[in-house]
Amino acid sequence: MSGLVVEQKKSVLQRIGNTPLVEISRIFRSDRVRIFAKLEWFNPGGSVKDRPAYNMIRTGEESGQLHHGKTIIDSTSGNTGIAYAMIGAAKGYRVLLAMPANASVERKQILRSYGAQFLLTDPLEGSDGAIVAIRELYQKSPENYFYPDQYSNDANWKAHYHSTAPEIYEELHGEVTHFVAGLGTSGTFMGTGRRLREYDASIQLISFIPDSPFHGLEGLKHMPTAMVPHIYDPALADERLEISTEEAHRMVVRLAREEGLFAGVSSGAAMVAALQVARNIHKGTIVTLFPDGGDKYLSEEFWESKEVVGGS
Ligand code: PMP
Repeated sequence: MSGLVVEQKKSVLQRIGNTPLVEISRIFRSDRVRIFAKLEWFNPGGSVKDRPAYNMIRTGEESGQLHHGKTIIDSTSGNTGIAYAMIGAAKGYRVLLAMPANASVERKQILRSYGAQFLLTDPLEGSDGAIVAIRELYQKSPENYFYPDQYSNDANWKAHYHSTAPEIYEELHGEVTHFVAGLGTSGTFMGTGRRLREYDASIQLISFIPDSPFHGLEGLKHMPTAMVPHIYDPALADERLEISTEEAHRMVVRLAREEGLFAGVSSGAAMVAALQVARNIHKGTIVTLFPDGGDKYLSEEFWESKEVVGGS
């Protein structure tokens, strides 16, 4: 017997979820209304998408659809791809992803680093172009691929139903009145929202989308003009807000400089949406989610802002 007592072999995949929930205390301050944000860049792949990607892969393995010898393929604006690439590397699967050619340089480089392969599609076709490219590939030889299809896969929203929502509700001891989240595949909003509603039917669910089809909110969809994900049910939301890229950019800079939170662009949009909700209520606890960190957006120009900021 060795003197070492190692209870269980720890895998990086066991670090998915249980992300920190922090209170926004300088950008917003009120005696009656509180805003909390769940920092999803603390997941090992750096974004909220580790949760659904891991759940879709596990579900695929359990159903027998995914086994070694198959390549994991999907269309992704970046973060789900990074999650597949990270999990694929940890589990020994090949990963091939389609994405619009204008996905950020940082994201593409991260994918390369994990050893994933990718297929770049026309930026003018947005995320829909990537979906079409992957469907064509899959239809040619389905036996070679595992295609989780995050837009139609219930394991996407169920990841949030089983992890994100309970984490929020338990950490706040049930003191949640509003949940705010952006819509990409809609998995975050649908899964977290459904579960929170089951805990407490009075919780208000507010979704948000970019305010125009030509937006810079990577990871989010302008639902009125995009291919609507099968898992999306617009009826779940009490309200749907529209956020501009410019206000999201300004807020990302404020989050870094005033809260010490180095967040991504859709997190800035989430903060703008949470503030809109906060201004319209008298009392309550608003929870939102910051999907990824600022590191993937370092090459963007909005950081150059010289604005001098202070608390408000
Ligand atoms: N923000 C970012 C940065 C994302 O990558 C995603 C995922 N597409 C979202 C928001 C939206 O999350 P969901 O797909 O769960 O709607």
